[in-house]
Amino acid sequence: MNIKNYAFETGIYRPPSEGGSASLLLRFTRNCPWNHCTFCTMYKTKKFQLRPLREIKGDIDAMAMLARDLKSTSIALGHGGKITRDSAITLMEKVPELNNHDGFPMLAHWLMVQGKTAFIQDGNSMIMKTPDLLEALNHLRTTFPSINRVTTYARARTLVQKSSRNLVSIRKAGLDRLHLGLETGDDKLLKAIKKGVTSEGQIQGGRKAMEAGFQVSEYWMPGLGGREMTRAHAENTARVLNAVNPHYIRSRPFRAIAGTPLHARIKAGEVHILSPGEQLAELKQMITALEVTSRVCFDHAGNNWRNPRGRILFTHDYEGYKFPEEKTRVLDLIEEGLESTTPPVSFIHL
Ligand code: SF4
Repeated sequence: MNIKNYAFETGIYRPPSEGGSASLLLRFTRNCPWNHCTFCTMYKTKKFQLRPLREIKGDIDAMAMLARDLKSTSIALGHGGKITRDSAITLMEKVPELNNHDGFPMLAHWLMVQGKTAFIQDGNSMIMKTPDLLEALNHLRTTFPSINRVTTYARARTLVQKSSRNLVSIRKAGLDRLHLGLETGDDKLLKAIKKGVTSEGQIQGGRKAMEAGFQVSEYWMPGLGGREMTRAHAENTARVLNAVNPHYIRSRPFRAIAGTPLHARIKAGEVHILSPGEQLAELKQMITALEVTSRVCFDHAGNNWRNPRGRILFTHDYEGYKFPEEKTRVLDLIEEGLESTTPPVSFIHL
């Protein structure tokens, strides 16, 4: 038992649906290779790096070694190999450096809940060379055969650039789900936020991923275009999502973060931020135009609209609402929310 054998990296970001120790976090690349989006702070001060394959495989091996030592500690404690808090604490007593290991709590908790899923960090793993990604996935799947789902973040533009053949081989190597930041389907807004992709690129990338057999999870941001672009944002986001028909559509209401270029534009009066009621009115417009068979989700704390009784409007469940069956229900909930957050009349008639 030696801390040197346990060295592996863990990044910060993962979607909420992969959090709470539900997923093993593996860092295949560092930071974001695009890094220009004007609303985003995630990796802003950090440079993108592809990690060498040997490092990635070394991380997987270190995780496996730590898992094995936790298991043997559990057996020695008489817990039959089941990883418990006691096994983690006992191992930390034997190897005190584990107290300062960023990834140890994540790995130990993941094993405690018999973790079945894995999330590959950071911002766009699909940018890896296909042979490297295939080998890393194969190594992960053979080292941890109990994993039944592997997911990652991806950019639509990168998916357009990858061949369909490569996408299919990556899917077959065990990458199951892609989380895509659509943000908006409106071309003017995509340009304004420097997303680096057009709506056509968003459609092509999303469709290619669907055709290759991935589960596709698209994230959009109610309120991103402010009052100036709300109608086009809602209409074109629905248009792109209708064209892709992804498995999941996830709402991430826009919040301006100080220090971002978009925040500066808002401060300068160039973009007028939506009130919660105005965001709901935009949501109503987008949802009304949606013709999909997706699950529509509000699985983030930012979806905090309330009904007149003060209760959170939408479930934050990761599986959300099944469309088209529950579309009317979602629209009814929006109406309830609008009763308690009446948008300005001028906005409704835009
Ligand atoms: S691609 Fe994603 S992580 Fe990268 S800058 Fe844009 S929003 Fe941020």
